[in-house]
Amino acid sequence: MKRLNMRTVRLALVFLVVLAVLCFFIGFFFSERTSENDHIMSPLAEVNTTAAPATTAPVLTSTPIVSQPAQPPADTTSVNILENENIEPLPEAVTISISETEWYLTLVNDWYKMPADYEVISAPAAPGSDVKLDYRVAEAYTAMYNAAAAEGLYLTPYSGLRSYSRQEINYENKTQLYRDQGYSETEARALAAMIIKPPGCSEHNLGLAMDIIDTADNFYTTEEYAWLMEHAADYGFILRYPKEKQYITRVEYEPWHWRYVGVEHAHAIKNSGLCLEEYLQAIGKMPLPLAEG
Ligand SMILES: [Zn+2]
Repeated sequence: MKRLNMRTVRLALVFLVVLAVLCFFIGFFFSERTSENDHIMSPLAEVNTTAAPATTAPVLTSTPIVSQPAQPPADTTSVNILENENIEPLPEAVTISISETEWYLTLVNDWYKMPADYEVISAPAAPGSDVKLDYRVAEAYTAMYNAAAAEGLYLTPYSGLRSYSRQEINYENKTQLYRDQGYSETEARALAAMIIKPPGCSEHNLGLAMDIIDTADNFYTTEEYAWLMEHAADYGFILRYPKEKQYITRVEYEPWHWRYVGVEHAHAIKNSGLCLEEYLQAIGKMPLPLAEG
């Protein structure tokens, strides 16, 4: 009995050893297989990963910043601009003459500026407000203000008419911020102009535009903004700097900035989906330079 038992134990041991050796080889074989597969896969993967950016990268870089969600907090607004590697220099703005009859179509931007001595006759933008606009625009704004107020929404005037000299100071201050960050004079001036226009190049200098309630980047999420999108044209106002037109206006998306163009043109602009620059071009009313002397 004992001998038999010993023999069984020995046999069992031998069997276990053989089994262990077998398992080792099977394991080795499979690990070789998988690592081989890895080797087969990895060149393909490398091809894929190197091929993928080649096709997607240009798409990503050519995607304009305008397609991004419009809610960067105030601090990152400038960061977004700074990420643009190519800072186009500010053009030399041409001084334009302002039409007596179509004053409401006056275009000022980086290319066109109002005469420095142009005098705006102003009036309070809304009852009891310190903020002013061109008196003709103030009338329209008051009507719009009252209509919104009747629905419990207050289009509180925040910044309207701004003097030429105030604009000069604001623009200088903004430019200095970029100089302090190490930008060249040309770059600093161009970057500053995307947020605050040089004197004479701002619609605020003409009293044609109102910054409503605040200049918060999330203004577009408010009920007031929704109301404006629906009704502002009825009072002659347009969203002047739409998000998807930044490449034309050279101005960051400003949901709070509403510009007077008169009811007829406001509706035409709204329906066309054009920005003011494109619209004036389309109707043949781009500004004429002021005659020298
Ligand atoms: Zn504004």
